[in-house]
Amino acid sequence: MYLPENIKNCINLLENAGFAAYAVGGCVRDACLGLSPHDYDLCTSALPEQTEEVFRDFRLVLAGEKHGTVTVLTEGGPVEITTFRTEGGYRDNRHPDWVKFVPDIEGDLARRDFTVNAMAYSPKRGFADPFGGREDLKKHILCSVGDPEARFAEDSLRILRGVRFAARFALTPEENTMAAMLSQVGLMENLARERVFEELCKLLLAAKAEDITRFAPILAAVIPELRPMIGFDQHSPHHAYDLITHTAHVVEGVPPKLPLRWAALLHDTGKVTTFTLDATGRGHFYGHARDSAAIADTILRRLKAPTALREEAVTLIGRHMTRLQPDRKFLRRQVSKFGFPMVEAMLSLQEADMGSKGTGEDNGHAIFSEVRQMLADLKAEDACLSLKDLAVRGNDLMALGFRGKEIGVCLNRLLEQVLEEQLPNEKNALLAWAAEQKEEL
Ligand code: ATP
Ligand code: MG
Repeated sequence: MYLPENIKNCINLLENAGFAAYAVGGCVRDACLGLSPHDYDLCTSALPEQTEEVFRDFRLVLAGEKHGTVTVLTEGGPVEITTFRTEGGYRDNRHPDWVKFVPDIEGDLARRDFTVNAMAYSPKRGFADPFGGREDLKKHILCSVGDPEARFAEDSLRILRGVRFAARFALTPEENTMAAMLSQVGLMENLARERVFEELCKLLLAAKAEDITRFAPILAAVIPELRPMIGFDQHSPHHAYDLITHTAHVVEGVPPKLPLRWAALLHDTGKVTTFTLDATGRGHFYGHARDSAAIADTILRRLKAPTALREEAVTLIGRHMTRLQPDRKFLRRQVSKFGFPMVEAMLSLQEADMGSKGTGEDNGHAIFSEVRQMLADLKAEDACLSLKDLAVRGNDLMALGFRGKEIGVCLNRLLEQVLEEQLPNEKNALLAWAAEQKEEL
Protein backbone atom coordinates (compact mmCIF):
# COMPACT_ATOMS: atom_id res chain seq x y z
CA MET A 1 0.00 0.00 0.00
CA TYR A 2 1.33 3.43 -0.95
CA LEU A 3 2.05 5.81 1.94
CA PRO A 4 3.21 9.42 1.58
CA GLU A 5 6.74 10.24 2.80
CA ASN A 6 5.66 12.11 5.95
CA ILE A 7 3.45 9.20 7.00
CA LYS A 8 6.18 6.62 6.40
CA ASN A 9 8.53 8.85 8.33
CA CYS A 10 6.19 9.04 11.35
CA ILE A 11 5.72 5.26 11.34
CA ASN A 12 9.50 4.72 11.11
CA LEU A 13 10.22 7.07 13.99
CA LEU A 14 7.79 5.16 16.21
CA GLU A 15 9.05 1.74 15.07
CA ASN A 16 12.70 2.80 15.60
CA ALA A 17 11.78 3.76 19.15
CA GLY A 18 10.46 0.23 19.69
CA PHE A 19 6.71 0.80 19.20
CA ALA A 20 4.27 -0.75 16.73
CA ALA A 21 2.73 1.81 14.35
CA TYR A 22 0.18 1.56 11.54
CA ALA A 23 -1.84 3.64 9.14
CA VAL A 24 -5.45 2.86 10.09
CA GLY A 25 -9.13 3.26 9.25
CA GLY A 26 -10.42 5.25 6.28
CA CYS A 27 -7.06 5.61 4.55
CA VAL A 28 -6.51 1.84 4.40
CA ARG A 29 -10.05 1.28 3.13
CA ASP A 30 -9.66 3.98 0.46
CA ALA A 31 -6.28 2.62 -0.66
CA CYS A 32 -7.72 -0.91 -0.97
CA LEU A 33 -10.39 0.55 -3.25
CA GLY A 34 -7.76 2.30 -5.36
CA LEU A 35 -8.92 5.72 -4.16
CA SER A 36 -6.55 8.34 -2.82
CA PRO A 37 -7.23 8.94 0.89
CA HIS A 38 -7.91 12.54 1.93
CA ASP A 39 -5.90 12.00 5.11
CA TYR A 40 -3.92 9.32 6.93
CA ASP A 41 -4.54 8.47 10.57
CA LEU A 42 -1.93 6.54 12.51
CA CYS A 43 -2.24 4.30 15.53
CA THR A 44 0.50 3.04 17.78
CA SER A 45 1.35 1.00 20.85
CA ALA A 46 3.15 4.07 22.24
CA LEU A 47 1.33 5.85 25.04
CA PRO A 48 0.60 9.53 24.36
CA GLU A 49 3.53 10.73 26.44
CA GLN A 50 5.81 8.26 24.64
CA THR A 51 4.57 9.56 21.29
CA GLU A 52 5.32 13.10 22.49
CA GLU A 53 8.84 12.01 23.36
CA VAL A 54 9.39 10.36 19.95
CA PHE A 55 8.25 13.56 18.22
CA ARG A 56 9.92 16.00 20.61
CA ASP A 57 11.56 17.83 17.66
CA PHE A 58 8.17 18.47 16.03
CA ARG A 59 5.44 20.94 16.83
CA LEU A 60 2.58 19.06 18.49
CA VAL A 61 -1.11 19.66 19.18
CA LEU A 62 -2.20 17.92 22.38
CA ALA A 63 -5.92 18.77 22.42
CA GLY A 64 -6.93 15.09 22.00
CA GLU A 65 -4.38 13.67 24.40
CA LYS A 66 -6.98 12.53 26.94
CA HIS A 67 -8.38 10.16 24.31
CA GLY A 68 -4.90 9.10 23.23
CA THR A 69 -4.41 11.38 20.23
CA VAL A 70 -1.28 13.43 19.64
CA THR A 71 -1.24 15.52 16.48
CA VAL A 72 2.18 15.95 14.90
CA LEU A 73 2.68 18.90 12.57
CA THR A 74 4.81 17.49 9.76
CA GLU A 75 5.95 19.21 6.58
CA GLY A 76 3.27 17.24 4.75
CA GLY A 77 0.53 18.46 7.11
CA PRO A 78 -0.85 17.49 10.53
CA VAL A 79 -0.85 13.75 11.35
CA GLU A 80 -3.04 12.32 14.11
CA ILE A 81 -1.37 9.55 16.06
CA THR A 82 -3.61 7.67 18.48
CA THR A 83 -2.61 5.08 21.06
CA PHE A 84 -4.26 1.64 20.56
CA ARG A 85 -7.38 1.84 22.67
CA THR A 86 -10.70 0.24 23.44
CA GLU A 87 -13.68 2.15 24.62
CA GLY A 88 -16.93 1.30 26.32
CA GLY A 89 -20.01 2.32 28.20
CA TYR A 90 -21.91 4.62 25.82
CA ARG A 91 -24.63 5.32 28.36
CA ASP A 92 -25.70 8.30 26.26
CA ASN A 93 -25.51 6.30 22.98
CA ARG A 94 -22.94 8.80 21.89
CA HIS A 95 -19.74 9.18 23.88
CA PRO A 96 -17.78 6.30 25.34
CA ASP A 97 -17.92 6.44 29.14
CA TRP A 98 -14.29 5.41 29.20
CA VAL A 99 -11.32 4.73 26.91
CA LYS A 100 -8.61 2.30 27.85
CA PHE A 101 -5.23 1.95 26.18
CA VAL A 102 -4.43 -1.56 24.94
CA PRO A 103 -1.15 -3.11 23.82
CA ASP A 104 -2.31 -4.67 20.50
CA ILE A 105 -3.69 -3.44 17.23
CA GLU A 106 -6.46 -6.09 17.30
CA GLY A 107 -7.99 -4.56 20.41
CA ASP A 108 -8.02 -1.18 18.72
CA LEU A 109 -9.57 -2.46 15.50
CA ALA A 110 -12.33 -4.20 17.45
CA ARG A 111 -13.79 -0.86 18.65
CA ARG A 112 -14.25 0.38 15.08
CA ASP A 113 -17.66 0.41 13.41
CA PHE A 114 -17.43 -1.62 10.20
CA THR A 115 -15.02 -4.29 8.97
CA VAL A 116 -14.02 -2.11 6.01
CA ASN A 117 -13.05 0.64 8.50
CA ALA A 118 -11.26 -1.77 10.83
CA MET A 119 -8.06 -2.37 8.89
CA ALA A 120 -4.53 -1.16 9.47
CA TYR A 121 -1.32 -1.28 7.45
CA SER A 122 2.34 -0.93 8.27
CA PRO A 123 5.18 -1.18 5.73
CA LYS A 124 7.05 -3.38 8.21
CA ARG A 125 4.17 -5.53 9.54
CA GLY A 126 1.84 -5.63 6.56
CA PHE A 127 -1.97 -5.61 6.89
CA ALA A 128 -3.83 -6.06 10.14
CA ASP A 129 -7.29 -7.14 9.04
CA PRO A 130 -8.72 -9.45 11.71
CA PHE A 131 -12.37 -8.94 10.65
CA GLY A 132 -11.93 -9.57 6.94
CA GLY A 133 -12.41 -5.99 5.75
CA ARG A 134 -10.54 -6.56 2.49
CA GLU A 135 -12.69 -9.57 1.68
CA ASP A 136 -15.86 -7.58 2.45
CA LEU A 137 -14.68 -4.74 0.21
CA LYS A 138 -14.16 -7.23 -2.61
CA LYS A 139 -17.66 -8.57 -2.08
CA HIS A 140 -19.10 -5.06 -1.63
CA ILE A 141 -20.41 -5.88 1.82
CA LEU A 142 -20.90 -3.56 4.78
CA CYS A 143 -20.62 -5.54 7.98
CA SER A 144 -20.48 -4.45 11.62
CA VAL A 145 -17.48 -5.39 13.70
CA GLY A 146 -18.92 -7.69 16.37
CA ASP A 147 -22.61 -7.90 17.26
CA PRO A 148 -24.39 -5.33 15.09
CA GLU A 149 -27.23 -4.65 17.53
CA ALA A 150 -24.85 -4.01 20.38
CA ARG A 151 -22.61 -1.82 18.23
CA PHE A 152 -25.51 0.38 17.05
CA ALA A 153 -26.88 0.50 20.59
CA GLU A 154 -23.49 1.80 21.79
CA ASP A 155 -23.47 4.58 19.24
CA SER A 156 -26.49 4.98 16.98
CA LEU A 157 -24.71 7.47 14.73
CA ARG A 158 -23.07 4.36 13.29
CA ILE A 159 -26.39 3.59 11.59
CA LEU A 160 -26.16 6.77 9.53
CA ARG A 161 -22.43 6.27 9.04
CA GLY A 162 -23.26 2.83 7.66
CA VAL A 163 -25.77 4.33 5.24
CA ARG A 164 -23.16 6.84 4.15
CA PHE A 165 -20.40 4.27 3.60
CA ALA A 166 -22.82 1.97 1.78
CA ALA A 167 -23.75 4.86 -0.54
CA ARG A 168 -20.23 6.11 -1.01
CA PHE A 169 -18.67 2.75 -1.83
CA ALA A 170 -21.72 0.93 -3.29
CA LEU A 171 -21.82 -1.60 -0.46
CA THR A 172 -24.73 -3.81 0.56
CA PRO A 173 -25.23 -4.23 4.30
CA GLU A 174 -24.87 -7.83 5.40
CA GLU A 175 -28.19 -9.28 6.56
CA ASN A 176 -27.70 -9.02 10.32
CA THR A 177 -26.12 -5.60 10.00
CA MET A 178 -29.09 -4.35 7.98
CA ALA A 179 -31.59 -5.89 10.39
CA ALA A 180 -29.84 -4.19 13.32
CA MET A 181 -29.66 -0.85 11.49
CA LEU A 182 -33.44 -1.04 11.18
CA SER A 183 -34.18 -2.39 14.64
CA GLN A 184 -32.06 0.26 16.35
CA VAL A 185 -33.23 3.33 14.39
CA GLY A 186 -35.21 4.61 17.38
CA LEU A 187 -31.99 5.24 19.31
CA MET A 188 -31.03 7.99 16.88
CA GLU A 189 -33.51 10.23 18.71
CA ASN A 190 -30.87 10.62 21.40
CA LEU A 191 -28.30 11.96 18.99
CA ALA A 192 -27.42 15.66 18.86
CA ARG A 193 -29.30 17.17 15.91
CA GLU A 194 -26.11 18.80 14.59
CA ARG A 195 -24.40 15.42 14.30
CA VAL A 196 -27.37 13.93 12.46
CA PHE A 197 -27.41 16.91 10.12
CA GLU A 198 -23.68 16.65 9.44
CA GLU A 199 -23.95 12.95 8.67
CA LEU A 200 -26.98 13.50 6.41
CA CYS A 201 -25.07 16.17 4.50
CA LYS A 202 -22.22 13.77 3.79
CA LEU A 203 -24.74 11.14 2.76
CA LEU A 204 -26.64 13.50 0.44
CA LEU A 205 -23.44 14.44 -1.37
CA ALA A 206 -22.62 10.77 -2.00
CA ALA A 207 -26.12 9.37 -2.56
CA LYS A 208 -27.46 7.80 -5.71
CA ALA A 209 -31.21 7.37 -6.17
CA GLU A 210 -31.11 3.76 -5.06
CA ASP A 211 -29.39 4.74 -1.79
CA ILE A 212 -32.24 7.07 -0.86
CA THR A 213 -34.82 4.38 -1.65
CA ARG A 214 -33.07 1.41 -0.06
CA PHE A 215 -32.37 3.34 3.14
CA ALA A 216 -35.61 5.34 3.18
CA PRO A 217 -36.87 3.79 6.47
CA ILE A 218 -33.64 4.83 8.18
CA LEU A 219 -33.84 8.36 6.76
CA ALA A 220 -37.48 8.52 7.85
CA ALA A 221 -36.37 7.77 11.41
CA VAL A 222 -34.42 11.03 11.50
CA ILE A 223 -36.74 13.00 9.17
CA PRO A 224 -40.24 11.67 10.00
CA GLU A 225 -41.82 13.82 7.26
CA LEU A 226 -40.28 11.42 4.72
CA ARG A 227 -42.14 8.41 6.09
CA PRO A 228 -45.52 8.94 4.37
CA MET A 229 -43.66 9.43 1.08
CA ILE A 230 -42.56 5.80 1.08
CA GLY A 231 -44.92 3.93 -1.21
CA PHE A 232 -47.04 7.06 -1.78
CA ASP A 233 -48.90 6.62 -5.09
CA GLN A 234 -49.28 9.98 -6.84
CA HIS A 235 -52.29 8.83 -8.89
CA SER A 236 -50.92 10.62 -11.92
CA PRO A 237 -50.25 9.44 -15.46
CA HIS A 238 -47.15 11.65 -15.36
CA HIS A 239 -45.60 9.79 -12.43
CA ALA A 240 -44.54 6.16 -12.63
CA TYR A 241 -42.72 6.30 -9.30
CA ASP A 242 -43.99 6.56 -5.77
CA LEU A 243 -43.06 9.80 -4.04
CA ILE A 244 -39.86 8.63 -2.34
CA THR A 245 -38.52 7.02 -5.53
CA HIS A 246 -39.22 10.17 -7.50
CA THR A 247 -37.51 12.19 -4.75
CA ALA A 248 -34.53 9.83 -4.80
CA HIS A 249 -34.02 10.39 -8.53
CA VAL A 250 -34.24 14.15 -8.10
CA VAL A 251 -31.55 13.99 -5.39
CA GLU A 252 -29.26 12.09 -7.74
CA GLY A 253 -30.21 14.38 -10.62
CA VAL A 254 -29.06 17.67 -9.10
CA PRO A 255 -25.37 18.62 -8.81
CA PRO A 256 -23.77 17.56 -5.50
CA LYS A 257 -24.13 20.89 -3.70
CA LEU A 258 -25.70 20.90 -0.25
CA PRO A 259 -28.56 23.43 -0.63
CA LEU A 260 -29.58 21.76 -3.90
CA ARG A 261 -29.39 18.22 -2.53
CA TRP A 262 -31.42 19.21 0.53
CA ALA A 263 -33.94 21.01 -1.66
CA ALA A 264 -34.22 17.90 -3.82
CA LEU A 265 -34.77 15.65 -0.80
CA LEU A 266 -37.52 17.86 0.65
CA HIS A 267 -39.06 19.47 -2.45
CA ASP A 268 -42.18 17.28 -2.46
CA THR A 269 -42.77 16.83 1.28
CA GLY A 270 -45.83 19.06 0.82
CA LYS A 271 -47.37 16.64 -1.66
CA VAL A 272 -48.44 14.52 1.27
CA THR A 273 -50.28 17.40 2.95
CA THR A 274 -51.88 18.84 -0.21
CA PHE A 275 -52.93 15.60 -1.91
CA THR A 276 -56.47 15.50 -3.32
CA LEU A 277 -58.14 13.03 -5.67
CA ASP A 278 -60.51 14.32 -8.34
CA ALA A 279 -63.63 12.56 -9.62
CA THR A 280 -61.63 10.80 -12.32
CA GLY A 281 -59.29 9.34 -9.73
CA ARG A 282 -56.41 11.60 -10.56
CA GLY A 283 -54.16 13.07 -7.87
CA HIS A 284 -53.57 16.81 -7.46
CA PHE A 285 -51.21 18.70 -5.20
CA TYR A 286 -52.38 22.31 -5.37
CA GLY A 287 -49.95 24.67 -3.65
CA HIS A 288 -47.57 21.89 -2.70
CA ALA A 289 -44.45 23.95 -3.38
CA ARG A 290 -45.46 26.37 -0.65
CA ASP A 291 -46.28 23.59 1.80
CA SER A 292 -43.03 21.80 0.99
CA ALA A 293 -41.08 25.00 1.61
CA ALA A 294 -42.70 25.45 5.02
CA ILE A 295 -42.10 21.80 5.94
CA ALA A 296 -38.48 21.98 4.77
CA ASP A 297 -38.00 25.12 6.85
CA THR A 298 -39.26 23.29 9.94
CA ILE A 299 -37.08 20.24 9.25
CA LEU A 300 -33.92 22.23 8.62
CA ARG A 301 -34.46 24.37 11.72
CA ARG A 302 -34.98 21.25 13.78
CA LEU A 303 -31.73 19.80 12.41
CA LYS A 304 -29.97 23.08 13.22
CA ALA A 305 -28.86 23.58 9.62
CA PRO A 306 -26.89 26.78 8.95
CA THR A 307 -29.22 29.66 8.14
CA ALA A 308 -27.82 30.32 4.66
CA LEU A 309 -28.25 26.69 3.61
CA ARG A 310 -31.78 26.53 5.02
CA GLU A 311 -32.85 29.75 3.34
CA GLU A 312 -31.42 28.73 -0.01
CA ALA A 313 -33.03 25.29 0.11
CA VAL A 314 -36.38 26.73 1.18
CA THR A 315 -36.34 29.31 -1.63
CA LEU A 316 -35.49 26.63 -4.18
CA ILE A 317 -38.31 24.43 -2.95
CA GLY A 318 -40.84 27.27 -2.81
CA ARG A 319 -40.10 28.14 -6.43
CA HIS A 320 -39.69 24.68 -7.90
CA MET A 321 -43.07 24.81 -9.64
CA THR A 322 -42.50 28.32 -11.01
CA ARG A 323 -40.99 27.09 -14.23
CA LEU A 324 -38.12 29.08 -15.68
CA GLN A 325 -39.01 30.08 -19.24
CA PRO A 326 -36.70 30.78 -22.16
CA ASP A 327 -37.76 34.41 -22.06
CA ARG A 328 -35.00 36.98 -21.68
CA LYS A 329 -37.03 39.55 -19.79
CA PHE A 330 -38.36 36.97 -17.38
CA LEU A 331 -34.88 35.57 -16.76
CA ARG A 332 -33.37 39.04 -16.24
CA ARG A 333 -35.98 39.64 -13.57
CA GLN A 334 -35.26 36.35 -11.89
CA VAL A 335 -31.51 36.97 -11.91
CA SER A 336 -32.05 40.53 -10.72
CA LYS A 337 -34.05 39.21 -7.79
CA PHE A 338 -32.12 36.03 -6.87
CA GLY A 339 -28.67 36.29 -8.49
CA PHE A 340 -27.13 33.93 -11.05
CA PRO A 341 -26.11 31.06 -8.75
CA MET A 342 -29.61 30.79 -7.33
CA VAL A 343 -31.34 30.88 -10.73
CA GLU A 344 -28.93 28.25 -12.01
CA ALA A 345 -29.74 26.12 -8.96
CA MET A 346 -33.48 26.60 -9.64
CA LEU A 347 -32.91 25.40 -13.17
CA SER A 348 -31.04 22.31 -11.98
CA LEU A 349 -33.80 21.41 -9.51
CA GLN A 350 -36.58 21.94 -12.02
CA GLU A 351 -34.80 19.95 -14.68
CA ALA A 352 -34.05 17.06 -12.32
CA ASP A 353 -37.67 17.16 -11.10
CA MET A 354 -39.06 16.97 -14.65
CA GLY A 355 -36.57 14.28 -15.59
CA SER A 356 -37.41 12.00 -12.62
CA LYS A 357 -40.94 10.90 -13.32
CA GLY A 358 -40.07 7.49 -14.62
CA THR A 359 -42.57 7.60 -17.50
CA GLY A 360 -40.08 8.21 -20.28
CA GLU A 361 -42.21 11.05 -21.62
CA ASP A 362 -40.64 14.29 -22.87
CA ASN A 363 -39.20 16.03 -19.84
CA GLY A 364 -38.79 19.42 -21.46
CA HIS A 365 -35.07 18.98 -21.86
CA ALA A 366 -34.98 21.23 -24.92
CA ILE A 367 -36.56 24.11 -23.01
CA PHE A 368 -34.17 23.72 -20.10
CA SER A 369 -31.22 23.81 -22.51
CA GLU A 370 -32.58 26.97 -24.02
CA VAL A 371 -32.93 28.58 -20.60
CA ARG A 372 -29.41 27.52 -19.69
CA GLN A 373 -28.07 29.07 -22.88
CA MET A 374 -29.94 32.32 -22.26
CA LEU A 375 -28.54 32.51 -18.75
CA ALA A 376 -25.03 31.98 -20.11
CA ASP A 377 -25.63 34.75 -22.65
CA LEU A 378 -26.92 37.12 -19.97
CA LYS A 379 -23.85 36.43 -17.91
CA ALA A 380 -21.52 36.97 -20.85
CA GLU A 381 -23.24 40.23 -21.78
CA ASP A 382 -22.58 41.54 -18.28
CA ALA A 383 -26.14 42.80 -18.43
CA CYS A 384 -27.49 45.34 -15.95
CA LEU A 385 -29.37 43.26 -13.40
CA SER A 386 -29.24 45.22 -10.18
CA LEU A 387 -28.97 48.79 -8.89
CA LYS A 388 -25.21 48.48 -8.65
CA ASP A 389 -24.98 47.77 -12.39
CA LEU A 390 -27.06 50.82 -13.31
CA ALA A 391 -25.25 53.53 -15.31
CA VAL A 392 -26.75 56.15 -13.00
CA ARG A 393 -26.07 56.70 -9.28
CA GLY A 394 -27.91 58.54 -6.54
CA ASN A 395 -25.55 61.51 -6.93
CA ASP A 396 -26.55 61.89 -10.57
CA LEU A 397 -30.19 62.12 -9.54
CA MET A 398 -29.40 64.63 -6.78
CA ALA A 399 -27.81 66.83 -9.42
CA LEU A 400 -31.17 66.74 -11.21
CA GLY A 401 -32.88 67.93 -8.03
CA PHE A 402 -34.10 64.60 -6.60
CA ARG A 403 -34.15 64.52 -2.81
CA GLY A 404 -34.50 61.90 -0.04
CA LYS A 405 -36.77 58.96 -0.81
CA GLU A 406 -37.33 60.15 -4.37
CA ILE A 407 -33.82 59.01 -5.23
CA GLY A 408 -34.37 55.37 -4.31
CA VAL A 409 -37.78 55.29 -5.95
CA CYS A 410 -36.39 56.69 -9.17
CA LEU A 411 -33.36 54.36 -9.22
CA ASN A 412 -35.67 51.36 -8.87
CA ARG A 413 -37.90 52.60 -11.65
CA LEU A 414 -34.88 53.08 -13.86
CA LEU A 415 -33.80 49.52 -13.13
CA GLU A 416 -37.30 48.31 -14.02
CA GLN A 417 -37.07 50.11 -17.36
CA VAL A 418 -33.69 48.57 -18.10
CA LEU A 419 -34.80 45.08 -17.08
CA GLU A 420 -37.86 45.45 -19.32
CA GLU A 421 -35.55 46.59 -22.10
CA GLN A 422 -37.51 49.85 -22.34
CA LEU A 423 -34.35 51.88 -21.83
CA PRO A 424 -30.69 51.17 -22.61
CA ASN A 425 -28.36 51.17 -19.60
CA GLU A 426 -26.75 54.47 -20.69
CA LYS A 427 -26.32 57.48 -18.47
CA ASN A 428 -27.77 60.12 -20.80
CA ALA A 429 -30.81 58.09 -21.73
CA LEU A 430 -31.49 57.22 -18.09
CA LEU A 431 -31.05 60.82 -16.90
CA ALA A 432 -33.35 62.14 -19.64
CA TRP A 433 -36.04 59.68 -18.57
CA ALA A 434 -35.49 60.53 -14.89
CA ALA A 435 -35.89 64.24 -15.59
CA GLU A 436 -39.23 63.57 -17.30
CA GLN A 437 -40.35 61.49 -14.31
CA LYS A 438 -39.38 64.14 -11.82
CA GLU A 439 -42.63 65.99 -12.33
CA GLU A 440 -44.67 62.91 -11.43
CA LEU A 441 -42.89 62.01 -8.20
P1 ATP B 1 -13.81 9.59 5.87
O1 ATP B 1 -13.09 9.35 4.59
O2 ATP B 1 -15.24 9.96 5.69
O3 ATP B 1 -13.07 10.48 6.83
P2 ATP B 1 -13.17 7.59 7.79
O4 ATP B 1 -13.32 6.10 7.76
O5 ATP B 1 -11.80 8.15 7.92
O6 ATP B 1 -13.90 8.13 6.52
P3 ATP B 1 -13.77 9.01 10.21
O7 ATP B 1 -15.05 9.50 10.72
O8 ATP B 1 -12.71 9.98 9.86
O9 ATP B 1 -14.09 8.07 8.97
O10 ATP B 1 -13.23 7.99 11.30
C1 ATP B 1 -11.95 7.36 11.21
C2 ATP B 1 -12.05 5.92 11.68
O11 ATP B 1 -12.46 5.89 13.04
C3 ATP B 1 -13.09 5.10 10.93
O12 ATP B 1 -12.55 4.51 9.78
C4 ATP B 1 -13.48 4.08 11.97
O13 ATP B 1 -12.54 3.04 12.01
C5 ATP B 1 -13.38 4.84 13.27
N1 ATP B 1 -14.65 5.46 13.68
C6 ATP B 1 -15.06 6.72 13.45
N2 ATP B 1 -16.26 6.97 14.00
C7 ATP B 1 -16.62 5.83 14.60
C8 ATP B 1 -17.77 5.44 15.36
N3 ATP B 1 -18.77 6.28 15.57
N4 ATP B 1 -17.80 4.18 15.83
C9 ATP B 1 -16.77 3.31 15.61
N5 ATP B 1 -15.68 3.62 14.90
C10 ATP B 1 -15.59 4.86 14.40
MG1 MG C 1 -11.35 10.29 8.18
